[in-house]
Amino acid sequence: MKQVQDYIRTIVDFPHEGIMFRDVTTLFADPRGFRMAIDQMLHPYAGIDIDKVVGLEARGFILGGAIAHQLSVGFVPIRKKGKLPGRTISQDYKLEYGEAIVELHDDAIKPGEKVLVVDDLLATGGTAEAGIKLIQRLGGEIVSCAFIIDLPELGGRKRLEAMGMEVNALCA
Ligand code: AMP
Repeated sequence: MKQVQDYIRTIVDFPHEGIMFRDVTTLFADPRGFRMAIDQMLHPYAGIDIDKVVGLEARGFILGGAIAHQLSVGFVPIRKKGKLPGRTISQDYKLEYGEAIVELHDDAIKPGEKVLVVDDLLATGGTAEAGIKLIQRLGGEIVSCAFIIDLPELGGRKRLEAMGMEVNALCA
């Protein structure tokens, strides 16, 4: 039987040389694969209190939307700078080359709300860390961070766990 990782393809040297890009669009496009991924991502959270799902741009929106729907809770996007129309808070973080900024609407999370953070892939953890900081600045309590893929050799899991985060991923 096909597993979640069997639906994900690897594109070599995208977006630049040396990167093995894990392309989850083939997983999303397959009805069985997509459902399996969502069901498995949800599995650790049965019976756990979650108020909001926060998705990281862009593939975290696809996963986070489906997960929020299943949990019957609201979905909140963390977006790259300049995309959110309302008043935002910002957080910068380091990329392989240079820096980036992510933003969150300043009224999107209420203090004490229990938040599940969702993205497709954990690499260095820089993106997730920036998102976590934004949620925490609004007083949100992060229940867990859920990914499809964890690339442990890039250190993201260790980095998030050092912040006290629980990390769940379906495959490496
Ligand atoms: P990082 O901040 O280093 O943990 O990178 C995670 C973010 O970059 C996620 O939003 C991923 O979608 C994307 N990303 C990083 N590396 C890859 C990769 N090898 N394949 C696909 N997406 C990646």
